[in-house]
Amino acid sequence: MMADSRAVAAADEIERDRFSGDDLGLDERKTLVQKHKEEDEAIFFPVIHGWGTDGHLTVCRIAQSRLSEAAAEAVKKLLPETAENDLGSVCSWADQVKFRYRWSSPLHYIDTPDDLCTYQYNRDCKDENGEKGRCVAGAINNYTTQLLTYNSAASQAEYNLTEALLFLSHYMGDIHQVWDANIIETAEERLYDSNVDDLIDAIQQNITTEWVDLVKRWETCSANKTTCPDIYASEGIKAACDWAYKGASEGSTLEDDYFDSRLPIVNLRLAQGGVRLAATLNRIFG
Ligand SMILES: [Zn+2]
Repeated sequence: MMADSRAVAAADEIERDRFSGDDLGLDERKTLVQKHKEEDEAIFFPVIHGWGTDGHLTVCRIAQSRLSEAAAEAVKKLLPETAENDLGSVCSWADQVKFRYRWSSPLHYIDTPDDLCTYQYNRDCKDENGEKGRCVAGAINNYTTQLLTYNSAASQAEYNLTEALLFLSHYMGDIHQVWDANIIETAEERLYDSNVDDLIDAIQQNITTEWVDLVKRWETCSANKTTCPDIYASEGIKAACDWAYKGASEGSTLEDDYFDSRLPIVNLRLAQGGVRLAATLNRIFG
C-alpha cells in the first residue's frame, strides 16, 4: 500500500538533498519560512515531540530483524531478561526514565535556530545551559562509544551497557523523527486497522523492494565512522522545513492532504531509523 510513487519521489528528494546539496539557497529558504510565519502565527515546529511508543517500536523491530549474528547475540545478552529478546519492547524505556534520570531529558532532541533550515553540531548540539554534546546527536555518539567497549573486560565496571543499548536504540528513533506521533496513530487507524504490526510489515516490504537501492546508502557512514548522527539530524531538519512549513497550520495538521503528503516521509524516516540502528549495531558488535 505504501509502495507508491509518492513515497519513492519523497525518498529521492531526501537523497538528492543529501548528496548534491540544497537546490534552494539559504536566503530563499529563510524567506519561505518567514513567509509562512507571517501568514500563520500558530506555526508549530515539529522536532520537539517524540515518535511515541509505536514509532520507536517500529524502528527497533526493523533494526532487530537486520542484525548480524554477532550483533544479535550481543543484543540478546544485553537486553534485560524481561524483554524476552525483543528490543522493541524496551525501545521507549528512555522516555519512561526521563524524569528519574533528569540529565537525560535534553538528549532526546536538537534545538536548531528555527529561522535557519540547517543543523551544525558545534552550533546546535548543546543543552539549555550551553553544555556541548548534550543533544540527541551527541548522545548517539556517546552510547556508541560506550558499546564499542563491549568486548573489553574493563568496560563492565565502567558503563551500564544494557542502558547504553536502550538509550542508543531509542535516540536513533528520536533523531529520525520529523512529526509527532499523531501521524503514525492516524496511519495505523486509517490504513492498518490500528495494528502496528501491519504498519511495520508494510515498511519492511518497502525496504526489501522499492527502497532496496537507497538502503545501502542509508547504511553507509562517511569516513568509516561507526555511526553518523550529524547526517541523520541534517536530513531531519531539512525534511521538517521542507514539509512541515508547507501549508501546515495548527488546525489542519491531520487533514487529508496534509496526512497524505507527509505519511510517505514519516514511513521513510522510520525505515531509515531502523536500517541505521541495525547498521550501527552491526558495526559496533562486528
Ligand atoms: Zn525520546
